[in-house]
Amino acid sequence: MGKHQFQTEIGQLLKLMTHSLYSNKEIFLRELISNASDAIDKFNYLHLTDEKFKEEEWSGKINVKIDKEDNSLTIGDNGIGMNEEDLMENLGTIAKSGTKAFIEQLTGDAKKDSNLIGQFGVGFYSVFMVADHVDVITKKAGEEQAYKFSTDGTGEYEINPVTKEAHGTVIYIKLKEDEKEFLDKWRVEEVIKKYSNHIAYPIILNYEEVEYEGEGDDKKEKKVWKSEQVNAATALWTLPKSELTKEDYIEFYKTIAHDSEEPLTYIHNKVEGATEFTTLFYIPRTAPMDLYRADYQPGVKLYVKRVFITDDDKELLPPYLRFVRGIIDSEDLPLNVSREILQENRILANIKQHSVKKILEAIKKLEGEDFDRFVSQYNRVIKEGIYTDFTNKETLLEIVRYKSSSEEGMVSFDDYISRADSEKKEIYYIIGEDEKVLRNSPLLEAYKKANIEVLIMDDYEVDSIVTPMIGEYKGWTLKDITTIEAPDSKTEEEKKEIEEEFKPLVEKLKKTLGDEVKEVKISTRLTESPSCVIKDSSDPMASMAAMFAQMGQEMPEIPLILEINPDHEMVKKLEKVEDKTLFEDMAHVLLDTAKLSEGLEPKDKTAFAHRIAKLAAKAL
Ligand code: ADP
Repeated sequence: MGKHQFQTEIGQLLKLMTHSLYSNKEIFLRELISNASDAIDKFNYLHLTDEKFKEEEWSGKINVKIDKEDNSLTIGDNGIGMNEEDLMENLGTIAKSGTKAFIEQLTGDAKKDSNLIGQFGVGFYSVFMVADHVDVITKKAGEEQAYKFSTDGTGEYEINPVTKEAHGTVIYIKLKEDEKEFLDKWRVEEVIKKYSNHIAYPIILNYEEVEYEGEGDDKKEKKVWKSEQVNAATALWTLPKSELTKEDYIEFYKTIAHDSEEPLTYIHNKVEGATEFTTLFYIPRTAPMDLYRADYQPGVKLYVKRVFITDDDKELLPPYLRFVRGIIDSEDLPLNVSREILQENRILANIKQHSVKKILEAIKKLEGEDFDRFVSQYNRVIKEGIYTDFTNKETLLEIVRYKSSSEEGMVSFDDYISRADSEKKEIYYIIGEDEKVLRNSPLLEAYKKANIEVLIMDDYEVDSIVTPMIGEYKGWTLKDITTIEAPDSKTEEEKKEIEEEFKPLVEKLKKTLGDEVKEVKISTRLTESPSCVIKDSSDPMASMAAMFAQMGQEMPEIPLILEINPDHEMVKKLEKVEDKTLFEDMAHVLLDTAKLSEGLEPKDKTAFAHRIAKLAAKAL
């Protein structure tokens, strides 16, 4: 009770809201109504399942009151309500990781930050775009004491006990001087219809109207309170597709996802038969901010026969589809279904399977800019899916995109196949951390020369784990070019001859470089560079390194194989060098420059610099 400081992050958020340049201020109403609807959802569930509340005569309702004289707007619900702890936890601190991520992105530049609000719903606090002062008067269902939470949007809030008859929450908003538009009945009605038409509970607008009594000189003005329901109050997903417009779907999305952007696409399905359910899914245009956080907030709500059950179940969809927002409404699950039951429930498993299929189909159907947008936001989680969802692997492989050594932009496996050698049926790729390094890698030289496309995979942490397990696609085998012989025009005979000729040099190099390389080999893949290094993927260290990388840890060193180009001037001449120090210097330079081309560091950087200087002096 008494005065409290807001958590620092909220302080920041409030400052942003009160000084916001955000033009779309009306969304505060959508956010508060959405909260009210959630709270009613929660009580509705208790009302239907909990002995304690079954007797109560109740039906969910949201009241919006415009008071012109008082310059205030009030939004009331008869939902679950909050107790003192809830108030402090829900409104005084920020628990949600998405909100935290949002705040971490704030720059302090009001203009830029206002754009961020547009991309991210910040719920309750958006009220401070229009409010001077806010009171939250609330009583939790099943408890005796009601509380008032008050703040004027600065760093402090106050909680005091009050009396309130029924459970639920009333949010009283004292409007700022220049936000009087929200006292206009038509304006408020318009905003509610626009964003909250398909909230499942009636929204009643209460307002004062001037009426006239009597005739002529006796005519008197009288103010009377009126109230009318302004929304359709049907859960949108229960309506047939034919009755819904694209706008209906989009506005509903904005309400449930707290997003101001339009979604990339929506997927509405009603399944009838042995199991009956309705699903409505959306793919956000911008990936949720908590996409890569372990404590991400799942985006799908579960309903049973229109009754809200949970919005916190990560099992409703596979984890790689955690960016999807929407609703699953089952006709067959029992209302009092518990978390444990949900996990092993056959009905739910069935719904999940069906949902994944529909979502992936919709993704495949995205076209042009929309598909590109999808790739830019979600390519990485699709790779996660390839690794974890065997049932849909083929479809996911059709969706995933990679960079290419010969094409602009992102290409699919199907694109690749359409251009490649259909006799050989091989898909070549190279994996590394840096696109530029990969593109300039000496390992690519032979492929460029032979006009063979290679997929450039620069999402190292993910690609190095996922790609090797793909194996093949539509009968084509995936090949890591660092582990196979490169294409070349030399015959076996010629190769043998060269190997014989360079055998002494190869042995001498291995002896000179010692433990720094696992092996020295004659290369068939180089044309311009004198040497290259490849990671020995057969070495157990290589797969361990990938695992370490995925866990975000320092990678252990992978043994390297040094390959030298027998056609290169430097290598040809090196064969004849007799001066021992000169040979040593050249051997190290050969290795260290090859490492640099692959984005690796020389083992001893100072020694490397010295050697280059020495050799340069000699050359001059
Ligand atoms: P969000 O709604 O996205 O979780 P908010 O900042 O809007 O974020 O709200 C924070 C929390 O406060 C909600 O999750 C809910 O627990 C609680 N809350 C907000 N409004 C109400 C309400 N009208 N009734 C009950 N609880 C509420």
